Amino acid sequence: MRSSVDDIRNRAEAILPEVVQLRRQFHMNPELGMEEFETAETVARYLDNLGLEVCTEVGGTGVVGLLRGSSPGKTVALRADMDALPIEQDSDADYASKVPGKMHACGHDAHTANLLGTARLLAEITSGGEKLAGNVKFLFQPAEEGPGGAEPMIADGAMRDPDVDAVFGLHVHTNLPTGQIAVKEGVSSASADGARIAILGQGGHGAHPEQTVDSVVVAAHVVTALQTVVSRETGPTDSAVITVGTIKGGFRSNVIAPRVDMEATVRALTPEIREALPGRIERIVKGVTESMRADYELEYSFGYPPLKNDSAMAQLVSEVGQRVLGDECVIQLGEASLGAEDFGYFASEAPGCFFRLGVSDEEKGLGLYPGHNPRFDIDESALSVGMSVMAAVALEYLSQ
Ligand SMILES: [Zn+2]
Ligand SMILES: [Zn+2]
Repeated sequence: MRSSVDDIRNRAEAILPEVVQLRRQFHMNPELGMEEFETAETVARYLDNLGLEVCTEVGGTGVVGLLRGSSPGKTVALRADMDALPIEQDSDADYASKVPGKMHACGHDAHTANLLGTARLLAEITSGGEKLAGNVKFLFQPAEEGPGGAEPMIADGAMRDPDVDAVFGLHVHTNLPTGQIAVKEGVSSASADGARIAILGQGGHGAHPEQTVDSVVVAAHVVTALQTVVSRETGPTDSAVITVGTIKGGFRSNVIAPRVDMEATVRALTPEIREALPGRIERIVKGVTESMRADYELEYSFGYPPLKNDSAMAQLVSEVGQRVLGDECVIQLGEASLGAEDFGYFASEAPGCFFRLGVSDEEKGLGLYPGHNPRFDIDESALSVGMSVMAAVALEYLSQ
């Protein structure tokens, strides 16, 4: 890495006010997944002004920017997500959401602004005379919160021409103070699959259960029995989650419900456990419903894969992070999260690392609420850290 750490940090500090302005613009105008039209337009215009090659409508509303180096080399991709959530914001900030029922409660506004700033930083360094061997690709993806934007972008060629050799991304975290990043080597987040289960009974009078098949009682047994897939069929040191998040059925207290519909999220950290879960779930659902004279329908859908950070790429982020921020500011995470991230698709295409950026500052009263909370907000000064680390990681990777 020829650019000094100080140079990168100074440039990031200088760009920060513009990045904060961009973040606030996105924050005030949140757009849901696959509807990021204005956001994508702002992103494309900004990259175009920097002189990058820009592709729009990649896999929907995705945008790809390409900074070509002055000589051939590897291609490193940096990724941000752009979508907001259908949550009513609870905030007094003058940059609060202007759209009722929508807000950037997961920080994707910050990710997008941060990556635009990183693009500017790298474009400035390379136009300032520093030779860049290889390319930096900037991936702005839609719909991370669902149905997923990484997979359609990959299908649309985002990781090819030039082919991506390594990919990096970050997520803001309010349980980490500003100035720190956290890295997890290996599997860092879970697969997220879904099961829709319908319990089919036979309706009737609440006073005469013997003439019916009570789908509510069967459903209750199914929910309970499903938990044994995790507790009795998954190793105690392995991880899986089955959460039945919705259960709907019935008309009133004295009517036996003919049908109950349930939706579950199913998560795992390894492909082996992930692939075993649908069969185990169906066996339990089938066994319980048959034993109680009911029938069932089961629809299983595969969502995001587990996200595995490549060891060498995770080490690169840690080493660069230590150089940019100081040894004590890079936290090594021991445990994976059962949350899911569709960065996992990019990381399945090329070795990569997805790390956490601390955005909490208690004194400022910012970054105190977790993601998806109506009061979620971040300490924006952390974006200078995010830009510095992202830019330094890209330069270090290309120089190797
Ligand atoms: Zn989220
Ligand atoms: Zn998120």
